[in-house]
Amino acid sequence: AFVDRPSSLWAMIAQTSARNGEGEALVCGHVRLSWQQTVEQAARIASGFRRLGLQRGDRVAILLGNRIEFPLLLFAAAHEGLVTVLLGTRQQKPEIAYVLADCGAKILIHEAALAERLPDARDVPDVIHRIAIDDDAKLSRFSVLADNAPAPTPIEANEEDTAMILYTSGTTGKPKGAMLAHCNIVHSSMVFVSCLELTAADRSIAAVPLAHVTGVVANITTMICCGGALIIMPEFKAADYLKLAARERVTYTVMVPAMYNLCLLQPDFDSYDLASWRIGGFGGAPMPVATIEKLKAAIPGLKLANCYGATETTSPSTIMPGELTASHIDSVGLPCPGARIIAMGANGRELPPGEIGELWIQSASVIKGYWNNPKATAESFTAGFWHSGDLGSVDSDGFVRVFDRQKDMINRGGLKIYSAEVESVLAGHPAVVESAIIAKPCPVLGERVHAVVVTRVQVGSEDLRAWCAERLSDYKVPETMAITADPLPRNANGKVLKRQLRELW
Ligand code: ATP
Repeated sequence: AFVDRPSSLWAMIAQTSARNGEGEALVCGHVRLSWQQTVEQAARIASGFRRLGLQRGDRVAILLGNRIEFPLLLFAAAHEGLVTVLLGTRQQKPEIAYVLADCGAKILIHEAALAERLPDARDVPDVIHRIAIDDDAKLSRFSVLADNAPAPTPIEANEEDTAMILYTSGTTGKPKGAMLAHCNIVHSSMVFVSCLELTAADRSIAAVPLAHVTGVVANITTMICCGGALIIMPEFKAADYLKLAARERVTYTVMVPAMYNLCLLQPDFDSYDLASWRIGGFGGAPMPVATIEKLKAAIPGLKLANCYGATETTSPSTIMPGELTASHIDSVGLPCPGARIIAMGANGRELPPGEIGELWIQSASVIKGYWNNPKATAESFTAGFWHSGDLGSVDSDGFVRVFDRQKDMINRGGLKIYSAEVESVLAGHPAVVESAIIAKPCPVLGERVHAVVVTRVQVGSEDLRAWCAERLSDYKVPETMAITADPLPRNANGKVLKRQLRELW
């Protein structure tokens, strides 16, 4: 259904507006914009960017929650060939400072309510402009950027240019900026549209954080690509979500399994009219089989589609065809069009079908690397394959399974916590000798963060949690802690035996 494969994010937006200008594009609270109005608003903001002297390739950091200004700023930046850097609103000052300094952003657009979490100007000397957006930043009052000057001519980005940088933590060291190129984003959006058969009649709710890859790609840019409507939910609450889905006659959503679980836990779930909901994509974490079965029973017309991916694959690398979900309940689906997925053995050879190894993914959605970080790029990518750190297999009929992971990470309802990051913050506390972050199973969120901390003097877990809370996003702070004076169990090479710790603590 595509006339042309758009060469950039802005080209995709312009194409949709030309095709479906009158169609509803963005809805948030009482604001409703058509595609044409969206393009106009974005172009006004773009002229504001130009007035501030920003130039193609400059980084624009965005620290905003789910609000209508979020996509408008992304689109305006795309109009100017600027690179948006997306910061999560749950990040704390040291995390924000690190990202701003690493990417060299010239401008930071932030929630006014988060002003206290912003770093001092001397710690982020590249940031020349800071623009606060408050709760009643009505579109007309969004004036520092948007004005009534005639829309400037767009500055076309090249396909390979970076459109966005999303930071992901890693097993070692500091967060790395995944560079999503225009072609990655356009490809992924087209994959969602073609695999899930989306059209301009589709309506989606963005309830996941827009600053994460699922929010940006599975929600925002996929709706640009099909020309449908995106209803933005500022904060996910299951009851409000169900109400909104019924009222807006939502047809398509992608969210994490925990959000489906929370919807099903609503006592009045059956009272909502969800008949229009036809595609329920899920990803970011494994979905319990019981949740799939309950959803299918509750909404018979809903096709559930497992989407396995990551920031480095610009969202999807596999999608399960909806009609096969029930017969392949233990698989994450088939590789997306153009994707190649292999299970890599410890010996550096591709494993035969069915054998378990590290999943390596190659496709037009896989990013080229990390911002300003050739070392991390070299470690994580080989000949266009991204090393996922997930352990899985590829069957002879192509179905991919994910069993476990080799990366030391906790998956808390789709939000990722890298143990090394929390352990290094704990190590800075004067009472701490060493620590190990491990997962505790949770029926709703999948996993929760637990810390085993070895201390040299007596210290309470509340002290340690407060220490972490000042330095880490709230969801990374260990919810439970075991404090001990005994050293952690290690193997002969000195590596902490986390499997053993999970049994002990
Ligand atoms: P988001 O950042 O928007 O939550 P995401 O979870 O797709 O999106 P990452 O945060 O980069 O992206 O996390 C990627 C990891 O999430 C994968 O390597 C894998 O461990 C896990 N994951 C993603 N999708 C699935 C899935 N469908 N089933 C099981 N695990 C998944």
